[in-house]
Amino acid sequence: MNIIEEPSRKTPIMAETDVLIVGGGPAGLSASIAAAREGVNTMLIERYGCFGGVITQAMIGTIAWYRYAKTVDAGGIGLEFEKLAKDMNGSINVFGNIKNKEMIKTLEKEGLMANGEPTYEILDTEMFKCIADKLVQDANITPILHCSAVDVIMEDQTIIGVITESKSGRQAILAKRVIDATGDADIAYHSGVPFRKSPKNELMEVTVNYGCSGINIGKFLMYVYLNPGSIGDWGDTSGKEESSFSTYLVEPFNKAKKAGEIPKDVDIESFWTNYTDAGEITSFNGIHMTDIDPTDVWDLTKAEIEGRKRVMWAIEALKKYTPGFKKARLRTIGASVGTRESRKIMGEYEITEHDVRNEGHFEDSIGICPEFIDGYGIAIMPTTGRYFQVPYGIIVPQKVENLLVVGRCVAGDKISHAATRQMCCCTVTGQGAGVAAAISYKDNVSCRQVNLSKVQTSLKKQGVRIE
Ligand SMILES: Cc1cc2nc3c(=O)[nH]c(=O)nc-3n(C[C@H](O)[C@H](O)[C@H](O)COP(=O)(O)OP(=O)(O)OC[C@H]3O[C@@H](n4cnc5c(N)ncnc54)[C@H](O)[C@@H]3O)c2cc1C
Repeated sequence: MNIIEEPSRKTPIMAETDVLIVGGGPAGLSASIAAAREGVNTMLIERYGCFGGVITQAMIGTIAWYRYAKTVDAGGIGLEFEKLAKDMNGSINVFGNIKNKEMIKTLEKEGLMANGEPTYEILDTEMFKCIADKLVQDANITPILHCSAVDVIMEDQTIIGVITESKSGRQAILAKRVIDATGDADIAYHSGVPFRKSPKNELMEVTVNYGCSGINIGKFLMYVYLNPGSIGDWGDTSGKEESSFSTYLVEPFNKAKKAGEIPKDVDIESFWTNYTDAGEITSFNGIHMTDIDPTDVWDLTKAEIEGRKRVMWAIEALKKYTPGFKKARLRTIGASVGTRESRKIMGEYEITEHDVRNEGHFEDSIGICPEFIDGYGIAIMPTTGRYFQVPYGIIVPQKVENLLVVGRCVAGDKISHAATRQMCCCTVTGQGAGVAAAISYKDNVSCRQVNLSKVQTSLKKQGVRIE
């Protein structure tokens, strides 16, 4: 790449804090709440105008769709998101208006309903913007929106501060501990932490999500009842979940491909997870694009524009080939393309496929995650109560002493990523990091040397299941 040399400059310091969290997705929100609860000054910066990450930007409300009747849950802040959403009328009971007794019986048999109630609700992704604001304000976190972290200031192996860019210009935030919750490990990258990133043709797909209004939901649900999707339709299961119900829909797009209305090589399907009584399905997940590097602005631009073009095709196919969709209209398109995978840090420990498939146990556990693997064509659901422990080592990056890295970019191999990228696991790594960063600051030791039994005790007090 050609370069141009910029003149050296003096950068104003906009703020100083004990713990700085960069990125306000499920992981960053959890990290900041956990740190603030430990009594340290906590600041959370986010490049967009709302918190929530993939939830609010790509309209993914299914934080808990993994939950079956026998699932052992992680507890902690992830569960608090769901509880607060319910209290604020910000979640959707997806099986709530299913009255068909046979269907209820099937869902109960599969563990998706118990005593006539669903095992989980879907977050209303628009409301989650307000829910996240409340979480941040109640926890006494200092929020900064519309603020991107673009570089770091280093002294030896320590981050002194982060350089931000915003409408206020280029400014520095000084911090004693930093938590990278950018999803793409931006801060780790700028501070020289070793990382890996698969070639872009091997990365998981990126997705542009959309919602529709004007749907006759009753007609659509009857069609689903007669043509139910199953998990085996879209993933390699372990066998037990092969015929389990899934909100998976592909028939209309296949028909449109056959009729020459959608190019045959386009990756298009749909999980229609959120519907309301107002005739809306607020999120269709299924316009996928491959060969995109989510850390390359040219590729991101291509994916957004190509994705929106495909949304138009999808809606035409739904209107033509799906009962209940005759009068459907586009309602929303996600504010940003959704990323599943980019940089992964090299950490003190790399969690493995073996760990997530075999209930890995770790002395440095900062929480647990149900055995839930979704990605690279694998679909394993936690229907049995099995779970693995999440080791602290995967959030501790090599080389930098006052940084923790959380969410989907934690250290691990390819298949483990299909487990650790799930929002439930992102909230676990986030909460663990928030507590550990605060304790390491208060005890004046590096994040690598923090007293883990103290961290575990505090996490338990915060409602996290460690064992
Ligand atoms: C289409 C799609 C469907 C999915 N479906 C599910 C599902 O059903 N269930 C599930 O559990 N998981 C699902 N996932 C995975 C899950 O949503 C993500 O892995 C998870 O949200 C990652 O959380 P995170 O906090 O690490 O990152 P993100 O949610 O990506 O949040 C990162 C935040 O950091 C901000 N940020 C990034 N860089 C900077 C910067 N330099 N400066 C300031 N701010 C920055 C971003 O704007 C964002 O708000 C899905 C993912 C996608 C893309």
